[in-house]
Amino acid sequence: MNKTKLIEILGRTADVIEENKLYLTELDTEIGDGDHGINMARGFAAVKEKLSGYEEMSCGAIFIDVGKMFIKVVAGSSGPLYGSAFKVIGKTVGDSEEVTYIQFVEGFEKGIAKIQALGMAKEGEKTMIDAMLPALREMQKADIAADGIKNAVAAAEKAVEHTKEIIATKGRASYVGERSIGHQDPGATSFYIMLKVLSEAL
Ligand code: ADP
Ligand code: MG
Repeated sequence: MNKTKLIEILGRTADVIEENKLYLTELDTEIGDGDHGINMARGFAAVKEKLSGYEEMSCGAIFIDVGKMFIKVVAGSSGPLYGSAFKVIGKTVGDSEEVTYIQFVEGFEKGIAKIQALGMAKEGEKTMIDAMLPALREMQKADIAADGIKNAVAAAEKAVEHTKEIIATKGRASYVGERSIGHQDPGATSFYIMLKVLSEAL
């Protein structure tokens, strides 16, 4: 993926997150505090403002800046979690005009590790991690980005469905305990939405 494509994908993601703002917020109203859509939209609106400036930056620096924006403007826990992961992807990609598939998958793996180090969530605790780890496993099986990301989207979609069946034991949703059963995790859903945009753009 070259830099132009990366900038285009960030812009498209910002638009799709904005379109899904109410949906994500509704999911978070059921088991959290009803701000996930607002949080994600605020993060991506800040990123969208910076897109033209990204033309002058390396791909790694762009990812790092996206992470910084999330940490700066997002009030909820998803801000530092997603933000730190974007920064780790940026550090892995480095000072380059392109993002290779291998770099992206390595960065994503390290980004997930960072989210887990910060939030202490394992798979099966009804968080974004539940969609990320199955997606990563599919990416690691493929040599070509188009195949890997497509399979990752399918795995993440299934994983999001599965979050309805389990009890939240991390994050705000854990406060409602068993009542979280039947409800889909907002963070797993926002991750799925972002990954789908990426897949459709490749
Ligand atoms: P907050 O919970 O602070 O209101 P958001 O509503 O923006 O923040 O984000 C909620 C989402 O963040 C959850 O649906 C879940 O996917 C994710 N999340 C919350 N806590 C954790 C954690 N400890 N580890 C991983 N993801 C988490
Ligand atoms: Mg919330």
